Amino acid sequence: ESLIQKLNETIENIPDFPIPGILFRDITPIFLNSKLYEEVIEDLAHFSRGKVDAVCGIESRGFLFGIAIAVALDVPFVLIRKKGKLPPPFISEKYELEYGTSEVEMREGHLKPGQRVLIHDDLLATGGTTEAAARLVEKQGAKATQFSFLIGLNGLKGEQKLEQFNAEIYKILT
Ligand code: IMP
Repeated sequence: ESLIQKLNETIENIPDFPIPGILFRDITPIFLNSKLYEEVIEDLAHFSRGKVDAVCGIESRGFLFGIAIAVALDVPFVLIRKKGKLPPPFISEKYELEYGTSEVEMREGHLKPGQRVLIHDDLLATGGTTEAAARLVEKQGAKATQFSFLIGLNGLKGEQKLEQFNAEIYKILT
């Protein structure tokens, strides 16, 4: 059985959460199966091995995989958090939501200029969150050279939004 098949059987699709009309992909059952979790990490680490100098994970599910990818690759891990969670010094980037705006932040100085960075999150939808994360990386003089996701939703133009970064994109599932 392939990793894709196992994940399709494991990830739960919940209709009308958090609002009517949205089909929520719940990845948390992966954590009930430590062997499956290890396989996911090895698959994601394989994509980035030898190609990045640091990993950034996006709050909060991006942390659950991102830190393990970084440990597997033996490179630093840097958190990208929602506004108001990090102590100073930090840098911020605003981005558009369907209604209103949101903001992500990163500790200043944790990435070094010139570093090649993987940005990881569990799921790519419109790409707005990941785009803002990549801007934070660039503000530090580093470069987002790879993006990885467990799930990349098609039809929401997330990959198109990331084209500007000329980075490699990997998603295990669509
Ligand atoms: P985007 O900015 O539109 O690409 O949204 C991606 C962000 O929303 C990621 O941080 C995801 O964790 C979260 N997200 C959106 N839809 C889902 C879902 O169905 N399941 C889990 N997370 C989701």
